[in-house]
Amino acid sequence: MWNDNGALDKASALIRDGALVGIPTETVYGLGANAYNAHSCLEIFKAKGRPADNPLIVHIAVPSDADKIAYTNDLYYKLAERFMPGPLTIILPKRDIIPSEATAGLDSVAIRCPVHEVARQIIERSGVPIAAPSANKSGRPSPTSARHVYNDMNGIIPLIIDAGPCDVGVESTVIKISEDSIIVLRPGAITAEMLREVCDNVTISSAVTEELKEGEVALSPGMKYKHYAPASELYLVDGNEDEFEKIVKEKAKKEKCAVICYEEELTKFEGIPTLSAGKRDDIKEQTKRLFELLRRCDELGVDTVYAHLPSKDGQALAMYNRMIRACAHRVIGGKNG
Ligand code: AMP
Ligand code: MG
Repeated sequence: MWNDNGALDKASALIRDGALVGIPTETVYGLGANAYNAHSCLEIFKAKGRPADNPLIVHIAVPSDADKIAYTNDLYYKLAERFMPGPLTIILPKRDIIPSEATAGLDSVAIRCPVHEVARQIIERSGVPIAAPSANKSGRPSPTSARHVYNDMNGIIPLIIDAGPCDVGVESTVIKISEDSIIVLRPGAITAEMLREVCDNVTISSAVTEELKEGEVALSPGMKYKHYAPASELYLVDGNEDEFEKIVKEKAKKEKCAVICYEEELTKFEGIPTLSAGKRDDIKEQTKRLFELLRRCDELGVDTVYAHLPSKDGQALAMYNRMIRACAHRVIGGKNG
């Protein structure tokens, strides 16, 4: 158990008093501020360069704290019993105590109760709910280590709490709920299949896998922005491992490229900078490594990067959603040509 009480107290006091702090959670590192403080919430947008219409997630210490900031219902408590604390964010109608600066003017608020002990301690000790988006500059891959936060936020925020790499590695599942239905706005470690154990009516927003059409309104504003992109151009390859190998080797003849492949394929790509995505069947490990790999791409000094197109099934959907956006929907191979 991480038990540097001094650091926890310092982080909590800074947040209570209006400053921004880099905090670890089980999903990714967050950029935390006092959610009751409108000015601090605006500072988050400034620090990240975040578009003004993209609302923040508010983090609470225990599920019942949601009643202080939102109008809950029975389904919220059923979900809380099963999945909280944990990587699930639930959108509910907001109470006035949450300033509109936290929700980008929306009358709903996104609520999460993290399971990470350090995050929980900081929320509890600060005595206020903490608004915290991922602690990256907008558009960059989310930070999964304190070093990533430092690279993006050095000189901008007064404190980063380092509790090692994040367990999950992608952001929380975001859902909007009514009395008896759930819509998944962003996939994460809590899958639609898991949510169906609690509620029969679970749908997945088309924006999770598809590009928004011209004029289409995003249910979750964050889904309309380009995200997670490395400086080099990422391409996803639709095909089996033999096809993948062939396509990457062809590309490498003409381009300064790198490859992200399964651990089992590492020896195939001699002469091409190669990063391991993790073992072929280990979706959890692949998810955990994803953002670190996207950041490492930038250090390779290549123009293009090729990686496998993930499946859309179960736990892999979260990775598919992040990667398809990191590559701006550039998929090659298979029926994509
Ligand atoms: P981040 O904090 O960077 O992990 O992103 C939070 C995600 O939750 C973004 O995609 C937001 O658009 C979404 N979100 C937060 N609050 C709301 C809300 N009230 N309604 C819809 N989506 C929300
Ligand atoms: Mg983010």
